[in-house]
Amino acid sequence: AAPIRISGVAKTFPNGTEALTPVDLRIGEGEFVTLLGPSGCGKSTLLRIIAGLTEPSAGTVEIADEQSRAFVFQDPTLLPWRTVDRNAQLLLELEGVAKPERRERAAAALDKVGLKGFEKSYPRNLSGGMRMRLSLARALALRPKFFLMDEPFSALDEITRETLQDELLRIWAEEGFTSVFVTHNLYEAVYLSHRVVVMSPRPGRVERIFDIPFAYPRS
Ligand code: ADP
Ligand code: ADP
Repeated sequence: AAPIRISGVAKTFPNGTEALTPVDLRIGEGEFVTLLGPSGCGKSTLLRIIAGLTEPSAGTVEIADEQSRAFVFQDPTLLPWRTVDRNAQLLLELEGVAKPERRERAAAALDKVGLKGFEKSYPRNLSGGMRMRLSLARALALRPKFFLMDEPFSALDEITRETLQDELLRIWAEEGFTSVFVTHNLYEAVYLSHRVVVMSPRPGRVERIFDIPFAYPRS
């Protein structure tokens, strides 16, 4: 069975905004799926419901391993008073992982995103692309099975964005996690994913699902 099963999920916010009408979606093990659509079509809301950050008004989301979700936001939300290394350990600290293991996992994650050598720097001394790398490392350190990303690259310049898209695909192929990636950029969706879920607004719903046959090979 698919590890993420979304059945009849709808969301109406308390102010009456109908963000999603019933959505049904299955996401397979190790897949890279993008949610694509214009601003306001409910992509973030659906992703946040998958992440367990927002309660649906109706329907259910079944996830094979609820503990194993990592979420990456558009804004890296780093702690400015912490070094790169200590930022990378943050979610592990919240999970209660012991210090030696925390250090080891953060170091491995920083290495994967190309931040080796920057451990003792502070976020203010990093470029936008490097801050996003750190945000990815902080999530990767959790060793998630499900990697949920909300427009992580959309605030970056084009060259940095393309570099990070390639690095994300390499990391995904190495790690084998399942990715759900929100974007309003058609090029990005087709470049990154195996399946593009096209959404349309007012209220948000799944319009079509495309399989991308020439996607990056799975590990
Ligand atoms: P997208 O990510 O596709 O831009 P969102 O999921 O952010 O769309 O928003 C879908 C709709 O729900 C929009 O009309 C938005 O204004 C509305 N919305 C999002 N969050 C809230 C909220 N907390 N309260 C009320 N309306 C919201
Ligand atoms: P995006 O996901 O497009 O980057 P936001 O998450 O900031 O943008 O919000 C998406 C939309 O949801 C915006 O139109 C915003 O006004 C609306 N929204 C977000 N949070 C709330 C809220 N608490 N109450 C009402 N509307 C909200």
